[in-house]
Amino acid sequence: MLPFQAEAQNKETFHCEYCKNEFQATVATWVDVSRTPYVKTMLQEWEFNMIACPHCGNRQFSDTAFFYEDFEEGLLIAVFPSIPENHTSLEEGIRQQYGYYPAIEFFYDMTQLWLLIHLQEYYKNNKNRLTQSIIGKGKERLQKFLLFLKTDPLMIAIRETLTGTLSGEKTGADLQDILWHALVKIEGGSPLPRDRAVFAGPLAS
Ligand SMILES: [Zn+2]
Repeated sequence: MLPFQAEAQNKETFHCEYCKNEFQATVATWVDVSRTPYVKTMLQEWEFNMIACPHCGNRQFSDTAFFYEDFEEGLLIAVFPSIPENHTSLEEGIRQQYGYYPAIEFFYDMTQLWLLIHLQEYYKNNKNRLTQSIIGKGKERLQKFLLFLKTDPLMIAIRETLTGTLSGEKTGADLQDILWHALVKIEGGSPLPRDRAVFAGPLAS
């Protein structure tokens, strides 16, 4: 059973990375975060689709692909935690099936979704930043975020730092530093007064 109401879920067979046993678990395959906003918090805390092995108790990320829908933003993202072999034909099929959606995106790395949520929350909760921001708002800002998430070379370092933070090799301060650089880049390199407290959540503190 899932700890939240998903739009779609699936019972799948997994292999425990620790004791190598097989087990079944239910994972979400479609979530609409405008209906279940706390799923955003789960994603930020890396708790979404975490599964536990009943044999040894080991917890691991399911690696199952899922749809992340934000109905209010008119955004549908097909999230593949790792790149599937046939991703070009998969993308085509999804575009045909859900072509009615205002914006369809494809993420092949959980870091992209993690950072998107952080950026959205950051701009939503920081009124000072909003008055200094030069990247517009609404759809225009969302497009700036998506372009950065999909093309900026800094994403590689962000992924490494985030992974390091999860495994305890890096600190929240390291993550804050690199997220700050990301923010400056997204804002076109304009020097902004630094505010460390904005990226909230246990990983970034
Ligand atoms: Zn196990």
